[in-house]
Amino acid sequence: MRLRNIPGSREEIAASPFVVHEDVMKDQKGRWHEIFGNRNPLYIEVGMGKGRFITQMAGFFPERNFVGIEKYSSVLVRALAKREANPDLTNLMFLRMEAEDLAEVFGEGEVAGIYLNFSDPWPKDRHAKRRLPSREFLARYQQILAKGGKVEFKTDNRDLFEFALQEQKEAGWNLELCTWDLHADEELMRSNVMTEYEQRFSSKGNPIFKMIIAPPENTGESAD
Ligand code: SAM
Repeated sequence: MRLRNIPGSREEIAASPFVVHEDVMKDQKGRWHEIFGNRNPLYIEVGMGKGRFITQMAGFFPERNFVGIEKYSSVLVRALAKREANPDLTNLMFLRMEAEDLAEVFGEGEVAGIYLNFSDPWPKDRHAKRRLPSREFLARYQQILAKGGKVEFKTDNRDLFEFALQEQKEAGWNLELCTWDLHADEELMRSNVMTEYEQRFSSKGNPIFKMIIAPPENTGESAD
């Protein structure tokens, strides 16, 4: 993601009622239902970017709760603008945080599903641990996923997708769906919600890869 510093973005986030702030986010662990005022299942997007995907998902699924996670203020403010333009989306909140800390913010089995969309590739081998589908991150996701919970990952980056397949296998996760050309699959496309990056790269003719994976065993309580 090309980063343009947006002056005032930190202040805007600090004042936003749609962001769960740093000072209290860890207090929410295991208690996210209090934020939303209901016990609907909770879905998160890690590395949300400008928020197109999660905003649309929240609109399509009012009976689910959504949290968009992004580490950069300058990017998160773009998602906040979408939320402000959609006052009815009471099922959507945001966190500005580093995803390495997920298990400090969400309780065991608290999350019904995780979306990773067009995650940063971190091409150097020594940065492999930073890739969001790495085994290190899979272990974090496993801690917070509810029984039956899955990770859905989309990208146009073949190396990252192949890496994710290896990591899923090494970590003993189950590969429930795998396509090397999502946009050619009519059935999958019926429920596909495009992200900003997906729109950009698919319009250039890049094939989009998608996998759905589930942890080997999940002892968390179902969030449904
Ligand atoms: N998901 C969006 C899409 O598909 O349009 C954005 C994709 S962009 C390539 C990746 C985003 O993930 C960036 O905004 C980046 O700041 C965020 N990100 C990457 N690593 C992260 C991490 N460890 N914690 C939180 N956000 C992260």
